[in-house]
Amino acid sequence: MIYLDHNATSPTRPEVAEAMLATLTRQEGNPSSVHGPGRAARQTLDEARRAVARLVNVHDSRVIFTSGGTEANHLAILGMAEQAEFQGTLITSAVEHPSVLMPCDKAGQRGMTVIHLPVDASGRIHPDRLKTALTLDTRLVSIMAANNETGVLQPVAEIGALCRAAGVPFHCDATQYAGKLPLQADGIQADLLTLSAHKLGGPKGCGALIVGPAVQLTPQLLGGGQERNRRSGTENLPGIAGFGAVAQLVAPRIEAESLALTALRQKLEEGLLKSVPDAVILGAQAPRLPNTTALALPGVDGETLVMTLDLAGFAISSGAACSSGKNTPSHVPLAMGLDHALTRSVTRISLGWDSTEHAVDRFIHAFHRSVDRLRKGSHFA
Ligand code: PMP
Repeated sequence: MIYLDHNATSPTRPEVAEAMLATLTRQEGNPSSVHGPGRAARQTLDEARRAVARLVNVHDSRVIFTSGGTEANHLAILGMAEQAEFQGTLITSAVEHPSVLMPCDKAGQRGMTVIHLPVDASGRIHPDRLKTALTLDTRLVSIMAANNETGVLQPVAEIGALCRAAGVPFHCDATQYAGKLPLQADGIQADLLTLSAHKLGGPKGCGALIVGPAVQLTPQLLGGGQERNRRSGTENLPGIAGFGAVAQLVAPRIEAESLALTALRQKLEEGLLKSVPDAVILGAQAPRLPNTTALALPGVDGETLVMTLDLAGFAISSGAACSSGKNTPSHVPLAMGLDHALTRSVTRISLGWDSTEHAVDRFIHAFHRSVDRLRKGSHFA
């Protein structure tokens, strides 16, 4: 199987698996215990915290480990909404991940006004739109750094600067961005930053929320007071050790990996457009993550193409993995102005650390054959 679905999850890097196994088999203590095994576990936790902090260039006291990007997004949005007693306005965008959109909806049901900023045809938010939407009533702005379906980057540095000037906290979901391109939490003036280990080759079920020093946040999980009282629950030590290991491994390689992926993706896109000339790359004109290609293919059903390619030994995705299977067209291409039929045709290819030129060549060939077959089939239907 050739795996080209790194935005859904990136296979665990071998070095990460080793670090996790060592923690799982050799560390029996609870990091909150004062005895020797507890102190050893605490040391593992602290080391991982430092590595994750270094990945986004913050002090380690700002890292709150969570069960992943979804939980970090909930803590950021509902934690801030609860601080505001569910009064005032939340600003987000039309293309966020459901783990941002749904807590925003929940805050809306509790009484907040929720504004969804639109995107243009290339999937970008215009900072001017945010400027007009920001008022004294705004309690939080939540905008993603990179879209999971298209890879399109949002102008988060400008968005962060506008929020800072207006005195409004800025939450950035950097789940897809971190580890793929260099990122500094303070560079984009993010008060809250979401990370997830499994998108960069770490374990699934582990993430972090980076919280600015001045931010007051209401915890969503209560209990033993772990993570500086902001997220109770005995820490997922093997997961966190894996997150630390991947952060340490990836940080010095980001530039080199992103250059290599950009070249590989270019080869992929040239090959795909040559063999299927009417394919449309979503967000082609916008800055994008180096690894992601989302394609609309007139007259082809995305789900069927994914299944056909699966049988041929290639793993790709139709839109977001989390929304596939639902049979409702994804909100992201719709927000970019695609019609329903074209939205249903969208497939996503996302490269990663284990992708090779040989795999890309084989994929282009298989893609061409599959699209051809499906189109011929639909002629006879
Ligand atoms: N935000 C974005 C942009 C994502 O792509 C994802 C994962 N699909 C999440 C949040 C949720 O992350 P996790 O799977 O770690 O809960």
